Amino acid sequence: MEHLAMQVLCALDIALLRRVDAKQYEFFGQAPPFYDDLFPPSREGHCVKPWEHSSMLEIFFEDAETFFIDREAGIFSSGIWQEEGKTGDESALIAMAQTFGGEQIVIIRLLQDDFNERSVILGKARAQLLENRALSRSLEVYKEKSQLDGLTMLLNRTAFMDSLPAEIRKAESTSHPLPAIMLDIDNFKVINDTLGHVTGDRVLRALGRILRASLRRGDIVARYGGEEFIILLPACELRKALTIAEKLRKTIEDHVVDDAPGFTVSMGCSLHQAGETPDSFIQRVDMALYEAKRSGKNRVCMR
Ligand code: GH3
Ligand code: MG
Ligand code: MG
Repeated sequence: MEHLAMQVLCALDIALLRRVDAKQYEFFGQAPPFYDDLFPPSREGHCVKPWEHSSMLEIFFEDAETFFIDREAGIFSSGIWQEEGKTGDESALIAMAQTFGGEQIVIIRLLQDDFNERSVILGKARAQLLENRALSRSLEVYKEKSQLDGLTMLLNRTAFMDSLPAEIRKAESTSHPLPAIMLDIDNFKVINDTLGHVTGDRVLRALGRILRASLRRGDIVARYGGEEFIILLPACELRKALTIAEKLRKTIEDHVVDDAPGFTVSMGCSLHQAGETPDSFIQRVDMALYEAKRSGKNRVCMR
C-alpha cells in the first residue's frame, strides 16, 4: 500500500523529504523526473540538499527550519516560483513544509502544465498591465503638455475654448454668475520693436506669472493669442470681477522685475448671459476690451 502511495506521489510530480535533524533531510520514496533533473542525485541517492541548487529553496529551507522549530502544526508554503532546468525550460514549482503526526515533511511539487501555463499567462497579463499603465501615464503627460502654452505655461486657446462650454453649462445649472476678462498688453509692438523679441517674451512670461499668482482656485486663465489673455471667474459677481480686474491692472502697472520692462494692459469684462453661445460671449468680452483700447488704454471696460 505504501509502495502504491509513493507511486501516486511520483506520478503527481511530488517529491517528499523527511526532516531528520536540523537542516538534515532524507528522501522519501520515489523521485519524480523533474526532481532529479533540477536537483542532481549523488552516489548516495536522490538529492537531500536541494537548496544547494536553487536560491529560492535556500531561502525557503531557512524559513522552513524556523517553522519546524517554532510550530507544531500548519503548513508553510514557498509560493509558486520558476526554476530553470538543464534543458533551459522553466518549471513552475511550489514547496511546502508541514508536520504530519510527529513527522516533519517538505514536499517539492512541479505544477502541472495548466498551472505552468496559467502562471505564464498571469505573467504576460501583468507585463501588459504595467505597459498599459506606463503608456496611459505618458499619454496624460502628453495631453497636459498639449493644453499648455509653452511660453507662459498657462492654458492655450484651444484648451480654454474646450473648457468654456462646460463652464457655461455649470454656471447655468447652478445659477452662478460667470464673468470673463479679456486682457491685452498695451503697445506691445513698441516693446518688441524697441527692446527686441526676447525682451517681449520676457514680458509675456512675467505677465503669465502675475496672472497665475493672482487668481483663485477654480479660476481659468489662458493665453488667448499673441499678447492677449483671457480669464474666467466661475461663481463671481460682476462687481467683484471688475474689482479683481482693476486690482490686476494696478498690479501689472506697478510691477517691476529685473528681467521685464514696465508695461500696462487694457481689459474688457463681461458677464455671461443666459443662452449665449461661447463664441458670442467671447465676442462681447472682446468688444469691451476694444472699448478700453479705444478710450485710452491701461483701463478696464465692461460690456
Ligand atoms: P495695442 O495697445 O493696441 O494692443 O497695441 P499692440 O502693439 O500691443 O498690438 P499689436 O497687435 O499692434 O501688436 C502685437 C504684437 O505682439 C505684434 C506681435 O509681433 C507681438 N507678439 C505676438 N506674439 C508674440 C510672442 O510670442 N512674443 C513676442 N515677443 N511678441 C509677440
Ligand atoms: Mg496689444
Ligand atoms: Mg492684441
